[in-house]
Amino acid sequence: MKVIDHINQASKTLVSFEVLPPLKGKSMSAIYDHLDPLMEFKPSFINVTYHRAETMFKKKADGTFEKVEVRKRPGTVGICAAIMNHYQVDAVPHLICGGFSKRETEDALIDLNFLGIDNVLVLRGDAAKNEAFFEPHPEGNRYALDLLRQVNSLNHGIYLEEDIKNGGKTNFCCGIAGYPEKHFEAPNLETDMAYLKQKVEAGAEYIMTQMFFNNQKFFDFVKICRENGIEIPIIPGLKPITNKKQLTVLPKIFHVDIPTDLSSAIMKAKNDEEVEKIGTEWLTQQSKELKEFGVPVLHYYTLGKPKVIWNVVKEVM
Ligand code: FAD
Repeated sequence: MKVIDHINQASKTLVSFEVLPPLKGKSMSAIYDHLDPLMEFKPSFINVTYHRAETMFKKKADGTFEKVEVRKRPGTVGICAAIMNHYQVDAVPHLICGGFSKRETEDALIDLNFLGIDNVLVLRGDAAKNEAFFEPHPEGNRYALDLLRQVNSLNHGIYLEEDIKNGGKTNFCCGIAGYPEKHFEAPNLETDMAYLKQKVEAGAEYIMTQMFFNNQKFFDFVKICRENGIEIPIIPGLKPITNKKQLTVLPKIFHVDIPTDLSSAIMKAKNDEEVEKIGTEWLTQQSKELKEFGVPVLHYYTLGKPKVIWNVVKEVM
């Protein structure tokens, strides 16, 4: 079932989770162990992130180095299919522009369609680790907007091969990313908002946000979206802080602010156990307030912390 149908048919706030594919070499049981305890909350869908290949230099026997492309976390499509089969719950693979030609994207979409997966979160992806700025594949999509248009073409039975006439139509429900604190490359929120609106006009059916720790930023974002004529559901992305290092890592990687009240409390904590308690309480309060506000779904980035998420959702739902 499509994410948008889950939302439209719901009479209360739903819950959903997000997992990362395990590191290469680990098995699917890593995902099941992670999700098993969370399934009692009957998530409407589970997102699976996508991680592009990284360039690495491997030392050879003769002392020279060989450049290799390594995917540390492969398996997004397979994990989605396994989740749907194992739990009978909808899975949402993240689909990115980075590293894919349009033909490879089309083939991936055909695979997803054959597997009965009818949801995708359409993203650009970040720059590769060895690049300062995002560079698309020479024959790929540059922006999430372009990728969205490609998915929509396939939804209309239009394939890259022009000689395919009356091609089978896919039926993907497309979500897109939104940034309450603005995407870090956008010169200002207004410009970011204009591109967001283009993605909505191109057929995106809901927005899923970057994490944030101050609900006011989300409320302001929703207000600005509505003022700009963006009417589709906006799902808040939520993550707990569980160690002190995240106070610097999260702003650096995700370009988000951590409110002073939260950062001061964490800095005073004696150990990670205390930090986890503070982070859990903060996320619980955030979730309760967002639910009260009437968000369609509370979407949790579980990222290795299912117990923390379990404690939060138990208290909130
Ligand atoms: P875009 O919408 O393409 O925007 C990128 C930048 O370009 C923005 O600054 C925007 O303002 C600007 N822009 C947009 N359209 C245009 C245009 N037509 N012309 C000029 N400028 C334009 N990354 C992964 O690699 N894997 C994941 O699984 C993943 N999951 C994510 C899940 C969520 C909920 C979120 C919020 C992010 C996720 N990301 C993931 C990170 C995401 O890929 C990055 O934030 C990326 O830098 C931007 O992606 P986007 O889809 O917002 O890009």
